Amino acid sequence: RTVTTDMRTLIREIEKFAQDKTVEIDTLKIREEYRKDFLGNVSHELKTPLFTVQGYILTLLDGALEDKNVRKKYLQRANKGVERLIYIVKDLDLITKLEVGELHLEKEDFDIIELVKNVFELLEMKADKKNITLTFDMEYSKPIPVLADREKIQQVITNLLVNSIKYGHTNGTTEVSVENLIKNKVIVRITDNGEGIPKQHIPRLFERFYRVDHSRNRAEGGSGLGLAIVKHIIEAHDEKIYIESVAGVGSEFSFTLEKAKKV
Ligand code: ADP
Repeated sequence: RTVTTDMRTLIREIEKFAQDKTVEIDTLKIREEYRKDFLGNVSHELKTPLFTVQGYILTLLDGALEDKNVRKKYLQRANKGVERLIYIVKDLDLITKLEVGELHLEKEDFDIIELVKNVFELLEMKADKKNITLTFDMEYSKPIPVLADREKIQQVITNLLVNSIKYGHTNGTTEVSVENLIKNKVIVRITDNGEGIPKQHIPRLFERFYRVDHSRNRAEGGSGLGLAIVKHIIEAHDEKIYIESVAGVGSEFSFTLEKAKKV
């Protein structure tokens, strides 16, 4: 009788061991898939700007170097391609750190209104090129203090505003508002009247490299990582991000932040 019981226990243990191993192997398989998928996407993203830069260099070597005007124009274009590569690599570095949890938050009290104004100034030229107006929905006379990682929230606001310019119509408007939410929270909203996003794409929008229109959006110059970075930063703060969008009408991205006692 004891022998049978022992055998049963042993079998159960073996089964448990086998099950654990299966789970382990499944996890490894998923990670491997994820790694392959990531590397595939990365090389794809890098290919276009690399070939562009190579194209200009080859044309220069082919004789365009002799012509002073052409030389300058091609070198400027090659430089634009290199700038784009740097931008993509920086985003890749950031998303990798965010995904493995290597990036630590350095929270401090700061005025969210002042931060948004700073980002407006930095993006003024970009917005002017499409004659897009960046506004607050009202004049904020008093600071709104929040407790968060200032640099990373600046990145969030920059990414969302850059998108509103990229996917906004010429002569359009992007409006930012900050409102008190329940208790100790504020909500920051970034609303544009741009091209909007068809409903079926919304659930996958925050995935890295996900784009509504691949070829077109890549031509816009992004890395395809902007929204994935935004989501990671907001979630690292234990806050929430929302999106509402209607194709042909516009989009609103909003996120919550913790209020600070004072600035
Ligand atoms: P990208 O580098 O392609 O801009 P993002 O992660 O920042 O990458 O955005 C993912 C996709 O979401 C974009 O390619 C675009 O299709 C869509 N998108 C993001 N923001 C907006 C917006 N404000 N209006 C319309 N579409 C947007």
